[in-house]
Amino acid sequence: APRVGVLALQGDVREHVAVLEHLGAHVVRVRRPEQLDEIDGIVLPGGESSVIDKLARAFDVREPLVAAIRTGMPAFGTCAGLILLADRISDGIEGQQTFGGLDVTVRRNAFGGQVESFETELSTPVLGAPPVHATFIRAPVVEQVGAHAEAIAALPDGRVVAVEQDGLLGISFHPEVSGEERLHRRFLARVQRAA
Ligand code: GLN
Repeated sequence: APRVGVLALQGDVREHVAVLEHLGAHVVRVRRPEQLDEIDGIVLPGGESSVIDKLARAFDVREPLVAAIRTGMPAFGTCAGLILLADRISDGIEGQQTFGGLDVTVRRNAFGGQVESFETELSTPVLGAPPVHATFIRAPVVEQVGAHAEAIAALPDGRVVAVEQDGLLGISFHPEVSGEERLHRRFLARVQRAA
Protein backbone atom coordinates (compact mmCIF):
# COMPACT_ATOMS: atom_id res chain seq x y z
CA ALA A 1 0.00 0.00 0.00
CA PRO A 2 1.23 3.53 -0.68
CA ARG A 3 2.49 5.22 2.49
CA VAL A 4 1.15 8.75 2.71
CA GLY A 5 1.06 11.45 5.34
CA VAL A 6 -1.62 13.96 6.19
CA LEU A 7 -0.17 17.06 7.82
CA ALA A 8 -2.09 16.93 11.10
CA LEU A 9 -1.46 20.29 12.77
CA GLN A 10 -4.86 21.91 12.08
CA GLY A 11 -7.72 21.55 9.61
CA ASP A 12 -9.82 18.77 8.12
CA VAL A 13 -7.32 15.98 8.72
CA ARG A 14 -9.88 13.29 9.57
CA GLU A 15 -11.77 13.67 6.27
CA HIS A 16 -8.58 13.19 4.23
CA VAL A 17 -7.48 10.21 6.33
CA ALA A 18 -10.86 8.57 5.72
CA VAL A 19 -10.69 8.98 1.92
CA LEU A 20 -7.06 7.81 1.73
CA GLU A 21 -7.68 4.75 3.92
CA HIS A 22 -10.78 3.94 1.88
CA LEU A 23 -8.52 3.94 -1.20
CA GLY A 24 -6.17 1.47 0.49
CA ALA A 25 -3.34 3.79 1.57
CA HIS A 26 -1.33 3.43 4.77
CA VAL A 27 -1.82 6.85 6.39
CA VAL A 28 0.46 8.63 8.88
CA ARG A 29 -0.80 11.74 10.70
CA VAL A 30 2.29 13.94 10.45
CA ARG A 31 3.13 16.17 13.42
CA ARG A 32 6.85 15.52 13.86
CA PRO A 33 9.71 15.91 11.37
CA GLU A 34 10.93 12.31 11.66
CA GLN A 35 7.55 11.05 10.44
CA LEU A 36 8.43 12.42 6.99
CA ASP A 37 10.83 9.47 6.65
CA GLU A 38 7.88 7.05 6.87
CA ILE A 39 5.94 8.45 3.90
CA ASP A 40 6.21 8.78 0.11
CA GLY A 41 3.70 11.61 -0.30
CA ILE A 42 1.78 14.12 1.80
CA VAL A 43 -1.64 15.75 1.89
CA LEU A 44 -1.93 19.31 3.15
CA PRO A 45 -5.53 19.68 4.37
CA GLY A 46 -7.97 22.56 4.36
CA GLY A 47 -8.09 24.72 7.44
CA GLU A 48 -6.41 28.05 8.07
CA SER A 49 -3.16 28.42 6.14
CA SER A 50 -1.66 31.04 8.48
CA VAL A 51 -2.25 28.78 11.51
CA ILE A 52 -0.82 25.69 9.79
CA ASP A 53 2.19 27.80 8.75
CA LYS A 54 2.80 28.90 12.36
CA LEU A 55 2.33 25.42 13.80
CA ALA A 56 4.62 23.88 11.17
CA ARG A 57 7.36 26.23 12.29
CA ALA A 58 6.65 25.63 16.01
CA PHE A 59 6.76 21.83 15.49
CA ASP A 60 10.01 22.04 13.43
CA VAL A 61 8.26 20.35 10.55
CA ARG A 62 8.38 23.27 8.12
CA GLU A 63 11.99 23.05 6.96
CA PRO A 64 12.13 19.27 6.41
CA LEU A 65 8.78 19.43 4.65
CA VAL A 66 9.95 22.23 2.35
CA ALA A 67 13.05 20.17 1.57
CA ALA A 68 11.01 17.02 0.90
CA ILE A 69 8.71 18.87 -1.50
CA ARG A 70 11.67 20.51 -3.22
CA THR A 71 13.33 17.15 -3.76
CA GLY A 72 10.26 15.61 -5.34
CA MET A 73 7.94 14.22 -2.67
CA PRO A 74 4.42 14.29 -4.18
CA ALA A 75 2.02 16.58 -2.33
CA PHE A 76 -1.69 17.28 -2.60
CA GLY A 77 -3.04 20.51 -1.10
CA THR A 78 -6.72 21.36 -0.71
CA CYS A 79 -7.81 24.95 -0.03
CA ALA A 80 -5.47 26.08 2.81
CA GLY A 81 -3.19 23.29 1.53
CA LEU A 82 -3.13 24.91 -1.93
CA ILE A 83 -2.11 28.20 -0.28
CA LEU A 84 0.71 26.38 1.54
CA LEU A 85 1.96 24.83 -1.72
CA ALA A 86 1.95 28.14 -3.59
CA ASP A 87 5.24 29.93 -4.21
CA ARG A 88 3.46 33.29 -3.81
CA ILE A 89 0.42 34.65 -1.89
CA SER A 90 -1.01 38.00 -2.97
CA ASP A 91 -2.66 38.78 0.38
CA GLY A 92 -1.06 36.72 3.14
CA ILE A 93 -1.34 37.98 6.69
CA GLU A 94 1.71 39.69 8.23
CA GLY A 95 4.68 37.31 8.19
CA GLN A 96 2.76 34.42 6.62
CA GLN A 97 4.99 31.94 4.80
CA THR A 98 4.22 29.04 2.53
CA PHE A 99 6.07 25.78 1.91
CA GLY A 100 6.08 26.51 -1.82
CA GLY A 101 6.56 24.20 -4.77
CA LEU A 102 3.81 25.33 -7.12
CA ASP A 103 4.81 28.17 -9.45
CA VAL A 104 1.58 30.10 -8.81
CA THR A 105 0.23 33.15 -7.01
CA VAL A 106 -2.89 32.55 -4.91
CA ARG A 107 -5.35 34.96 -3.34
CA ARG A 108 -6.84 33.84 -0.03
CA ASN A 109 -10.57 34.07 0.73
CA ALA A 110 -11.12 35.11 -2.87
CA PHE A 111 -14.87 34.49 -2.76
CA GLY A 112 -15.51 36.22 0.58
CA GLY A 113 -16.27 34.69 3.96
CA GLN A 114 -17.85 31.50 5.23
CA VAL A 115 -21.37 32.56 4.14
CA GLU A 116 -20.14 32.83 0.55
CA SER A 117 -19.28 29.12 0.52
CA PHE A 118 -20.75 27.30 -2.49
CA GLU A 119 -20.79 24.05 -4.41
CA THR A 120 -20.56 23.60 -8.15
CA GLU A 121 -19.98 21.00 -10.86
CA LEU A 122 -16.48 21.65 -12.10
CA SER A 123 -15.34 20.43 -15.50
CA THR A 124 -11.87 18.91 -15.06
CA PRO A 125 -10.64 17.52 -18.40
CA VAL A 126 -7.76 15.45 -16.93
CA LEU A 127 -10.32 13.50 -14.88
CA GLY A 128 -12.85 13.07 -17.67
CA ALA A 129 -16.60 12.79 -17.02
CA PRO A 130 -18.53 13.40 -14.87
CA PRO A 131 -17.52 16.87 -13.65
CA VAL A 132 -16.10 17.19 -10.13
CA HIS A 133 -18.62 18.05 -7.43
CA ALA A 134 -16.57 20.82 -5.80
CA THR A 135 -17.21 22.44 -2.40
CA PHE A 136 -15.65 25.88 -1.90
CA ILE A 137 -15.28 27.10 1.72
CA ARG A 138 -13.50 30.46 2.19
CA ALA A 139 -11.59 29.28 -0.82
CA PRO A 140 -8.52 30.74 -2.52
CA VAL A 141 -8.13 31.22 -6.27
CA VAL A 142 -5.02 30.94 -8.38
CA GLU A 143 -4.47 34.45 -9.69
CA GLN A 144 -1.41 33.72 -11.77
CA VAL A 145 -0.09 30.44 -13.15
CA GLY A 146 3.66 30.54 -13.71
CA ALA A 147 5.53 28.84 -16.53
CA HIS A 148 6.21 25.64 -14.54
CA ALA A 149 2.63 25.01 -13.37
CA GLU A 150 -0.44 23.98 -15.33
CA ALA A 151 -4.07 24.92 -14.70
CA ILE A 152 -6.27 21.80 -14.74
CA ALA A 153 -9.64 23.30 -13.77
CA ALA A 154 -11.27 26.72 -13.87
CA LEU A 155 -14.68 28.12 -12.99
CA PRO A 156 -16.92 29.23 -15.89
CA ASP A 157 -15.65 32.82 -15.37
CA GLY A 158 -12.09 31.63 -16.01
CA ARG A 159 -10.77 31.74 -12.46
CA VAL A 160 -8.29 28.88 -11.96
CA VAL A 161 -9.09 26.55 -9.04
CA ALA A 162 -6.84 23.54 -9.67
CA VAL A 163 -3.19 23.31 -10.72
CA GLU A 164 -0.55 20.67 -11.20
CA GLN A 165 3.22 20.74 -11.41
CA ASP A 166 5.16 17.47 -11.57
CA GLY A 167 4.11 15.54 -8.43
CA LEU A 168 2.27 18.49 -6.89
CA LEU A 169 -1.48 18.97 -7.05
CA GLY A 170 -3.22 21.99 -5.54
CA ILE A 171 -6.95 22.69 -5.57
CA SER A 172 -9.16 25.43 -4.10
CA PHE A 173 -12.00 23.16 -3.05
CA HIS A 174 -12.69 20.16 -0.78
CA PRO A 175 -13.25 16.81 -2.56
CA GLU A 176 -12.74 15.07 0.80
CA VAL A 177 -16.12 16.33 2.04
CA SER A 178 -18.16 15.52 -1.07
CA GLY A 179 -17.33 11.87 -1.80
CA GLU A 180 -15.18 12.83 -4.81
CA GLU A 181 -12.23 10.41 -4.85
CA ARG A 182 -10.64 10.95 -8.25
CA LEU A 183 -8.20 13.65 -7.10
CA HIS A 184 -7.00 11.53 -4.19
CA ARG A 185 -6.58 8.63 -6.63
CA ARG A 186 -4.54 10.87 -8.93
CA PHE A 187 -2.34 11.87 -5.98
CA LEU A 188 -1.86 8.22 -4.92
CA ALA A 189 -0.86 7.30 -8.49
CA ARG A 190 1.84 9.99 -8.33
CA VAL A 191 2.99 8.65 -4.96
CA GLN A 192 3.28 5.12 -6.30
CA ARG A 193 5.24 6.31 -9.30
CA ALA A 194 7.65 8.30 -7.08
CA ALA A 195 8.07 5.71 -4.29
N1 GLN B 1 -9.31 30.78 4.08
C1 GLN B 1 -8.46 29.70 4.52
C2 GLN B 1 -7.00 30.11 4.49
O1 GLN B 1 -6.68 31.20 4.10
C3 GLN B 1 -8.67 28.45 3.69
C4 GLN B 1 -10.05 27.90 3.93
C5 GLN B 1 -10.13 26.42 3.78
O2 GLN B 1 -9.13 25.70 3.80
N2 GLN B 1 -11.34 25.93 3.69
O3 GLN B 1 -6.16 29.32 4.86
